[in-house]
Amino acid sequence: MTRSQTEPQQKTESTSAGRAPDGPPQPHTADAVVVGAGYAGLSAALRLREHGLDVVVLEAASRVGGRVLSEERPSGPVVDHGGQWVGPTQKHLLALAGRFGCRTFPTWETGQHIEVWHDGSRLGYAGAAPADGPGIADYLRITALLDELALTVDIEHPWLTPRFAEWDGRSAETFFRAQSADPDTLARLALAVQGVWCAEPREISLFHVLFYIRAAGSYEQLMETRDCAQDRRFTAGAAAPAHAVAELLGDRVRLGEQVCAVQWHGSGVRVRTTAGTVVEARRAVVALPPPATRSIAFSPALPEPRSGWIAHSPMGRVAKVHAVYPEPFWRADGLSGIATLYGPPPVGVVFDNSPEDGSAGVLVAFVYGDRASAWAGLDQQQRRTAVLESLRAVVGERALRPADYTEKLWSDDEFAGGGYAAYVAPGGWGGYGEHGWREPAGAVHWAGTETATVWNGYIDGAISSGYRAADEIAAALAGSGALAGKHG
Ligand SMILES: Cc1cc2nc3c(=O)[nH]c(=O)nc-3n(C[C@H](O)[C@H](O)[C@H](O)COP(=O)(O)OP(=O)(O)OC[C@H]3O[C@@H](n4cnc5c(N)ncnc54)[C@H](O)[C@@H]3O)c2cc1C
Repeated sequence: MTRSQTEPQQKTESTSAGRAPDGPPQPHTADAVVVGAGYAGLSAALRLREHGLDVVVLEAASRVGGRVLSEERPSGPVVDHGGQWVGPTQKHLLALAGRFGCRTFPTWETGQHIEVWHDGSRLGYAGAAPADGPGIADYLRITALLDELALTVDIEHPWLTPRFAEWDGRSAETFFRAQSADPDTLARLALAVQGVWCAEPREISLFHVLFYIRAAGSYEQLMETRDCAQDRRFTAGAAAPAHAVAELLGDRVRLGEQVCAVQWHGSGVRVRTTAGTVVEARRAVVALPPPATRSIAFSPALPEPRSGWIAHSPMGRVAKVHAVYPEPFWRADGLSGIATLYGPPPVGVVFDNSPEDGSAGVLVAFVYGDRASAWAGLDQQQRRTAVLESLRAVVGERALRPADYTEKLWSDDEFAGGGYAAYVAPGGWGGYGEHGWREPAGAVHWAGTETATVWNGYIDGAISSGYRAADEIAAALAGSGALAGKHG
């Protein structure tokens, strides 16, 4: 990897560039330029190399990984501030991790899980949900209905789904309220939407919820731990495979290169960064969350469906907080450390995020949606107190005295602007999906987890989206012009 701020004249191995004796810097040239070195951009570059194409990757931040950010804390454990889990059906991520020898281990979940309700009452349970908990019967009926409806989604061509316009025209909230008036059922459904999309039910298109369930395989796949999306974690942190890919790509990956302008036409692009680097290429892959694209001046302007799609794809609102203790003390009390909290505390969900060897006890707390916005408005001490009070409600008094505490508010992240992913607001799919979701604009191809058809919103989706965009480019440059598009 190279870093423009420290090595402004450094050339990438794969591109040609130089400085005329008395003139301005000459552009680098490559077959393809990739914007963004998250999992999507890195996977696109890897696949482009495998197609035998020259590539240069421009990454704004001083690190790779994007919405996956692993940090070894001074207190010992590695914490993942962003994406962390991998499930058994997430084949692209598992294959990439396996290729580079990145180990995983099962998520800690032995013991009793806890629900904390509005009135402070605690309910213990094992398995997916308490059999006779408040609002549970209607909740199970409605989520089974979501699964049934999701089966009709045409995942490759969502706009061909039979009730596409009807479902996209309404929010998840209007659907839930039409199904049940039980406040406890509605609280369960709201926390599910917050936990999966980091949004409120009023904000998200019902069709997007169904599309996403289909892309994951089922509602259960999204929600549960064992054999589902939250099945395993990475021993060395979830960024380990990304770092391995970046190392393989070497100085083709340039850090500290924020792309600010893209000139495009049918057969080429000219890309400029705020550091003054210019890359000319036959094709570009823009591998950013849709709203981040707004910081780039496209010339000519992007087609209207694409800009409309971006306008209807806001980022979720989430913060992830880790509290580190000398040991996972809750296990001795028969608790798993897994909990769901139905307000008013800021925290919505808690997991035991201790390291594989149990050398420390780590609780991770998720703060979502409206609760994240309100909590973000507090000062640092108030935020910490509020989160630790939530943890006390789950595992008791010792939660108040962590050895280490760290929080990451993704809405404040300069380049992500939120997380886990962008969701689609009501009307977004119907108004702009067919041509705005991922249809190339001339020589500009779109990657990023938001363009995936398998595990959309997840690391796995980011990887497959990079492969798909690279295959599109290989096909286009080979002269066929056909879209590969078989990787999700
Ligand atoms: C708190 C949180 C928890 C999550 N949990 C999970 C989980 O457990 N499992 C899971 O699978 N997924 C999870 N996710 C989602 C997962 O992290 C993302 O889906 C995935 O990392 C997205 O990858 P990407 O490459 O599409 O985008 P990104 O990772 O966002 O990559 C985009 C890259 O582009 C760079 N960039 C932005 N603007 C520019 C510019 N103008 N010029 C150059 N570079 C630019 C960014 O710095 C970034 O590196 C979580 C996400 C968050 C935030």
